[in-house]
Amino acid sequence: MRTLVCGGAGYIGSHMARLLAAHGHEVVVLDDLSTGHAQAVQWGRLIQADVLHPPSLEAAFAGQRFDAVFHFCARSLVAESMVRPYDYYASNVVGTLNLLETMRRHGVRRLVFSSSASVFGQPVSDMVDEDHPAQPINPYGASKLMVERILADAATAYGLDSVALRYFNAAGATADACIGESHACETHLIPNVLRSVLGSGPALKIFGGDYPTPDGTCIRDYVHVEDLAQAHLLALDYLDAHPGAHAFNLGNGRGFSVREVIAAASAVTGRAAPWEMAPRRAGDPAVLVASSRRAKAELGWSPAWTGLEAIIESAWRWHRAQPW
Ligand code: UDP
Repeated sequence: MRTLVCGGAGYIGSHMARLLAAHGHEVVVLDDLSTGHAQAVQWGRLIQADVLHPPSLEAAFAGQRFDAVFHFCARSLVAESMVRPYDYYASNVVGTLNLLETMRRHGVRRLVFSSSASVFGQPVSDMVDEDHPAQPINPYGASKLMVERILADAATAYGLDSVALRYFNAAGATADACIGESHACETHLIPNVLRSVLGSGPALKIFGGDYPTPDGTCIRDYVHVEDLAQAHLLALDYLDAHPGAHAFNLGNGRGFSVREVIAAASAVTGRAAPWEMAPRRAGDPAVLVASSRRAKAELGWSPAWTGLEAIIESAWRWHRAQPW
């Protein structure tokens, strides 16, 4: 099968490319390299193209037939989306429309889309399943929800079969530390904790200690990037027997506070993780924990990385191997 991995130079996309290649699929990576890294493209040809530039998409699709597309290209920072909403709607919604239209013209009918737990907004229940109301509280989540809606309409109008996977907090790196999470301006919790441990970043700022949680810090559900990639593969298989547009939540079903993540990082690294308290970050809900019951039942997905310390350890191995 020839697959196109849009955003395959990025964190989750590069893990996807690796898994597809391991399963014998031909991989073509499409990426504008705005936040991804050419050196992360190790399992397929790289086409440098921009979803906001339709002619470059057309050129990428011309002369080759893709059996399926995995779409990871996106702006993905909640706080940034609050201050630059137009950029988020452009990249995530208009960019996806451009991709979908190019797929339609070229007769490509299967898509696995990288969605997000942020479509849910402020949770009204402890475990967020697919029936939870979707009321995003930031432009990032709103942009992902808009695409989910577009995919439902595309199924009806154009016969596009799709699965949207709503990741909770992607974390970790490959066991052999060959690819991992690297952003020019790092905002994510686990990389920031590890950078503060290594001294390659400042002391971690805890964004808010006054949330209505047991220790006052935000609670998230951390899920390993390899488990996420595995879910995409299962999602593609799922479409064989289930046409239409589908959405599944992906998480481990257990929440950890920022303070618990810091403690786990200290236990894994054997070093203190310097931190300081800072004001809340705009757009952050207090608690986000997944119920992945439906992904387990329908896709047959079962995360292999269930322990927070094991997830952090895989990220630690990768961070330690970096030249920063
Ligand atoms: N967080 C923090 N300090 C940081 C980065 C993140 O306290 O330097 C908190 C953030 O407020 C959130 C949680 O850690 O409650 C996870 O944030 P991250 O950016 O990793 O993922 P998000 O939940 O935004 O997708």
